[in-house]
Amino acid sequence: MASTILSDCSSSSAARILPFHMIRSTNALRFRCSVFLHPKTPNPRQIHGKSLAFTPVAMTTETSAKVIDGKSIAKQIRDEITSEISRMKDEIGIVPGLAVILVGTRKDSQTYVRNKKKACEAVGITSHEVNLQEDCTEEEVIKYISGFNNDPSVHGILVQLPLPRHMNEQNILNAVNIEKDVDGFHPLNIGRLAMQGREPLFVPCTPKGCIELLHRSGIDIKGKRAVVIGRSNIVGMPAALLLQRQNATITIVHSSTKNPEEIIRQADIVISATGVANLVRGSWIKPGAVVIDVGINPVDDPESPRGYRLVGDVCYEEVAKIASAVTPVPGGVGPMTIAMLLSNTLESAKRLHNFK
Ligand code: NAD
Repeated sequence: MASTILSDCSSSSAARILPFHMIRSTNALRFRCSVFLHPKTPNPRQIHGKSLAFTPVAMTTETSAKVIDGKSIAKQIRDEITSEISRMKDEIGIVPGLAVILVGTRKDSQTYVRNKKKACEAVGITSHEVNLQEDCTEEEVIKYISGFNNDPSVHGILVQLPLPRHMNEQNILNAVNIEKDVDGFHPLNIGRLAMQGREPLFVPCTPKGCIELLHRSGIDIKGKRAVVIGRSNIVGMPAALLLQRQNATITIVHSSTKNPEEIIRQADIVISATGVANLVRGSWIKPGAVVIDVGINPVDDPESPRGYRLVGDVCYEEVAKIASAVTPVPGGVGPMTIAMLLSNTLESAKRLHNFK
C-alpha cells in the first residue's frame, strides 16, 4: 500500500491540472491531467474521515498526523446556526435572507449556487436567486444588486464569481452594500481586515473557515510562525491578514518565491491555497506543523466513474507522516466555506436587526 500511496505524490513536479469548470463531463481530462492512482488504492482520506466525530482530531494507524475533520466541524457550526435562526425567528420574527446572483451557465458555478441554496434551506435562511444571461450587461447586474441592497428581507448578497469576461468585477463587487457583503470581498471590508484597530463587517468565507478549523481543533495561533502559500484576493491574502490578526508571524509564499520549501519548512502553521495539485511535499514540512489544505484540484482517475477525482495542494500521504495535524481534501476546508457563508448571513441579520 505504501508504494501505491506514494505514487500519488511521486512526480517530481506538481501535477498539471485543468480548471474545475473545464473538466465536467469531458473526456479531455483523461489525457490532460497527470496524476494517477493505483487502481486498487483505497482513498486514505476517506478511511480517516469515516472514523472521525467532532473531536478535534483522530489518530490513524498509518500516519502520525491528526486529521482535522472539516465535515463534522462544519456540521456542528450549521447546527449552531440553525438553533440561532430559530431563536431569532421566535423572538423577533425575522428570518435571515441571502441573495445569490449568477451570471451565465457555467456548470461549476451552477453547482456552487445550488449547494449554497440547499445549505440555506437546511438551516432556515431564505434564499433569493437571480440567474442572468451570459451576455447581460454590467448595469443589469448592478440593478439587481441595488434592489437587494434596498430589500430589508435580504441580509447578504453574493455575486457568484467568476463573472463573464466583458464585466468589470471590481465595479460589481463595489456595488454590494458593505453591510450585506457576506463574501467579505468589498475593498472596505478587506481594508478594515488589514488595519489594526479596525473591524471588518465580514471576513471572506474560506479563510475564515481555515481559522475556525484551527480554533475548533484546539490549535494555538498566537506567536506561531505561519506560512500562507498563495496570495489571491479571496483566499491567500485574507488568510494571511487573519493569521496576523491572531498574532502569528506571517510569510506569504507565491509563484515567484525563491526556495519556497526553505521558508515553508520553518512554519508551525501552513495554509496552502495555490490550485496546484500535490505541490506541498512531506519534506517541505517541519515535523509537528499543522497543515491546512485549501486547494481543490481535479486530477485524472480512470477508476472514478467521473474520470477524475479531487485532491488538494498538499501531498497528503507524505505530509500526514510529518505534520501533527492536517486537513483532508475533500472533507477539510471545503465544507467550512459554506458554513462560514451561512454564519456571515446570520451575523448580518443579527447586526441589521440589533439582535443579540
Ligand atoms: P488563484 O489562482 O487566484 O491564486 C493562486 C495563488 O497561488 C496565486 O497567488 C499564486 O501566486 C500562487 N501559486 C501558484 N502556483 C504556485 C506555486 N507553484 N508556488 C507557490 N505559489 C503558487 O487561486 P485561489 O482562488 O486562491 O484558489 C486556490 C485553490 O483553492 C484552488 O485549488 C481553489 O479551487 C481552491 N479554493 C478552495 C476553496 C474551498 O472552499 N475549499 C475556496 C476557494 C478556493
